[in-house]
Amino acid sequence: MKVRHVLGISGGKDSAALAIYMKTNYPDLDIEYYTSDTGRELDETYHLIDNLEIFLGKKILRLTAADNSPELPFDHFLKMYGGFLPSSNARWCTKKLKLEPFEKFVGSDPVISYVGIRGDEEREGYISKKSNIQSIFPFRKNIWSEDIVMKVLSNENISKLTELFKQIDTANSKSVRIQEIISTPVSNSFTQPQKLNQLLDLGIKEFNHLVFEFLKGTNYPLSRETDFPLVTNEDVLVRDDIFKILEESGVGVPQYYKEVAFEINGKNSTYARSRSGCFFCFYQQKIEWVWLYEQHPDLFEKAMEYEKDGYTWMQEESLSDLIKPDRIARIKEDYIKRTERNKNSNSPYLIDILADAEGEGCASCFI
Ligand code: SF4
Repeated sequence: MKVRHVLGISGGKDSAALAIYMKTNYPDLDIEYYTSDTGRELDETYHLIDNLEIFLGKKILRLTAADNSPELPFDHFLKMYGGFLPSSNARWCTKKLKLEPFEKFVGSDPVISYVGIRGDEEREGYISKKSNIQSIFPFRKNIWSEDIVMKVLSNENISKLTELFKQIDTANSKSVRIQEIISTPVSNSFTQPQKLNQLLDLGIKEFNHLVFEFLKGTNYPLSRETDFPLVTNEDVLVRDDIFKILEESGVGVPQYYKEVAFEINGKNSTYARSRSGCFFCFYQQKIEWVWLYEQHPDLFEKAMEYEKDGYTWMQEESLSDLIKPDRIARIKEDYIKRTERNKNSNSPYLIDILADAEGEGCASCFI
């Protein structure tokens, strides 16, 4: 069975940049691009997807949950859940609107899924636990998923790895040291992350080649491929690289990242939205809710309409409380204090200040 290569576009900057990067660097890979449409995205997201389609020269497939329903996907499931709004502790929205349509789309086919987690991020970006779906992270030094690294570097596979390395070794100046590290068991004093980092530091290509050979004896989708061009990928891309890719390609940075100026009690600052996803996403920060209220009052109004029967988007306050003038002023002042503490003057993007929220949420919605 043919291995499928897929890449999900969330509407965020990283997955958009990854699509551009893959098309530019690996034009021979036949990648299927898709986006999971909740029906409640910002217009800027739909605009980004249109721009990307032009750059990629192919359609980005719209996956829609509950596509037979007369309602928008989010509203359909909200009704099913009795009006119970999703939250970080009960994130039915991601499961129903993103993960399930994705798993239906790939079915039981062997699939390589490219994920835009950057080289300067710590998170793993879990997408699916289905064994026919294998995630690859082209922007990171370590392109492999955690489960694969654990298998490859487990102590019980030391002799297998040693044998495989002998077969692929080109006997260069690093060979002896690589072999030593491979044969050193993981222990309390030599952890798996240390082992991984040392191998990657010695040679990303060598390590990738070794993993690729190792996978041939497994059921992972890549075991079916005779070669894989990303084995020789040594790129590590960080946040600034992402903005550069978006701007230089002509696709552009999603508009919601652009800073908007505001003034409060004689102090000036700027705000923006830090991520893609539904306009009412409960992961957004208070200042982003204020941004939505002031920049997209119609959407804020719609978000408010969802708050009923005691259900609210935030645990500790409702949206009607959040927009009281005193409350808005306090949120803005707190935000100004925070931005002054964290300011990174090298970056033109507020996302550096809102960055503490970046690791939250899930790969399907925000990358
Ligand atoms: S963007 Fe937020 S609200 Fe929308 S599906 Fe993702 S987690 Fe849920």
